Amino acid sequence: MTASSCPNACREQPAWELFASERGFRLLRCPECGLGWTDPPLGDEEIGAFYPPAWYGENNVRFNPVFEALVRLFRQRRSAVIRRRSKPGPVLDVGCGRGLILGELKRRGYRPYGVELSEHAARHAVHQAGAEVHVGDLQRAPFPENYFEVVIFWHSLEHFREPLKALDKASRLLKPGGLLVVAVPNSESLQARLSGANWFHLDIPRHYFHFGLEPLRRAVQDRGFRIAQIDHFSFEQNPYGWLQSLYNALGFRFNFLYDFLKNSNARMTPLRKHPVQALGVLLLLPVLLPVALILMAYEAAAEEGGTVELYAIKKA
Ligand SMILES: [Zn+2]
Repeated sequence: MTASSCPNACREQPAWELFASERGFRLLRCPECGLGWTDPPLGDEEIGAFYPPAWYGENNVRFNPVFEALVRLFRQRRSAVIRRRSKPGPVLDVGCGRGLILGELKRRGYRPYGVELSEHAARHAVHQAGAEVHVGDLQRAPFPENYFEVVIFWHSLEHFREPLKALDKASRLLKPGGLLVVAVPNSESLQARLSGANWFHLDIPRHYFHFGLEPLRRAVQDRGFRIAQIDHFSFEQNPYGWLQSLYNALGFRFNFLYDFLKNSNARMTPLRKHPVQALGVLLLLPVLLPVALILMAYEAAAEEGGTVELYAIKKA
């Protein structure tokens, strides 16, 4: 893909919207359909440098124990929502990571399948969740068509170099009446607009594509889905998105809070190297956390969540 071509085959030239905090990258947006993408996009070799080994942490435990417990709770909520909207059957999690959501769904009677690029994470998913995992590209996954009851893209669609083709594939894999679940950052949300390059969920260059609500709706509807619901309230993603973006805007080291919450062995930046910043983060927390929670409530009410969860049904 060149910088000037929209995957929706729009005619107008894309316009640059902002320069990312990661030097040398910018966000382009198509004025016709609203889809955004990272320029320049990186190849498989180059993007590896932006996922250092510490990214996943030792034994794949990324956060400190309190937050790991919270993450577990969020996962249970996610699988409960999926259970309410579908009946147990084969479920495919695209970008399944350690298979934590698949493990939850298995306990609820689903048969777990995954696609994952990281061999290390995939091995975990096989052992812990009993999932059948294809390591590699979704397009080459050897799963039968019209087979799955549910296909999930949980914050993975924006990492695809060809997200629309990924949705095409998902549509073929799903049974008629099957459920598509897509959670993505909302690049036209209040959080995104106010934070600009400081937005935590922008995550350039790891995110190749940037969806606002309309481009997301269109991508799904163009592929034979009926949208059942779009959720703007995510306690899992949105308060944190506000909080980290606020710290970034105040001039703290970029995404420093994220390091704070991690296990010491998964930190990118050791806290002791930046004691003043660490103290500053702690002192500001009682002020910024309530602000983040109020903003989260507001954006959910205004239907412009910083991240959104879309549920859609494949038409018969
Ligand atoms: Zn376009």
